[in-house]
Amino acid sequence: MSNHFYPIGSPGKAWDDNECKQWFQATTIQRSYENEVLQRIASLEVNFTVQQYGALSVNPKKYPLFALKSKPWRAKLPTALITGGVHGYETSGVQGALEFAANHSGGYAERFNLIIVPCVSPWGYETINRWNPDCVDPNRSFTSNSPSEEASLLMAFIDNQPDILVHIDLHETTDSDEKEFRPALAARDGKPYIAGEVPDGFYTVGDTPNPQLEFQAAVIESVSAVTHIAPADANSQIIGSDVVAPGVILYPMRELGLCGGLTNCQYGTTTEVYPDSKKATPAICNQAQVAAIRGGLDFLLKKLY
Ligand SMILES: [Zn+2]
Repeated sequence: MSNHFYPIGSPGKAWDDNECKQWFQATTIQRSYENEVLQRIASLEVNFTVQQYGALSVNPKKYPLFALKSKPWRAKLPTALITGGVHGYETSGVQGALEFAANHSGGYAERFNLIIVPCVSPWGYETINRWNPDCVDPNRSFTSNSPSEEASLLMAFIDNQPDILVHIDLHETTDSDEKEFRPALAARDGKPYIAGEVPDGFYTVGDTPNPQLEFQAAVIESVSAVTHIAPADANSQIIGSDVVAPGVILYPMRELGLCGGLTNCQYGTTTEVYPDSKKATPAICNQAQVAAIRGGLDFLLKKLY
């Protein structure tokens, strides 16, 4: 099927403001940011400085934005940035970042200053959505004059932090990408929906101009102890991009306005966990995100110390 009927808008015509509003009005709250994220952030205050860097205008009281900074902060240490929930529906990115902060960060906080931003898009987390309330994908919006406040508030916060050596951005690729989010994107832009293939397994996305394949391989190796790695498809690709090493594809992060291009980091990776696999559970997905972070940081520990 190259064309897919989406219930909002007309085929071949991009959405106007009314159609975006219609989309927003059809969204529903499906889980609690307060219970599943904010309470856990509060419980981490022993080991982290919790810093609010903004709030979402759709409901500023309900959606404050938080970063965790390891303490004590030591100016001489390199800084590692972990981001989750840039796409709010990608649960293990949020829960994996929190799990790492709660149970696995101790040893690393001696060697890195850690900045963990567990849930960049809390409205998307609660409504299980890829877009923000304005029908904008935050992860195509890390640009100047960003149309996404989730992206612009995070960019402003990171601008005031020390240089970032390593950035690990936690994502998922889900069946709902093909069932809902890509058809919605095609409808919003008035374009035909062309079906894609969802890979079964974990993969990473490196930055085309700075792939750091040894670093990517260390992440893949660490995750492979927890869950399976996505094989290349019949065209030696994963979701339409060439596989450059087992489980690794590349995107030009900056050019595409991806969160992975947020910093000038030397080492960066975007993780993609597949939660809909027959072999995956929510716990395995969270562990895979933790293993990705640990694999990346362990690689750097060997290089730096
Ligand atoms: Zn994502």
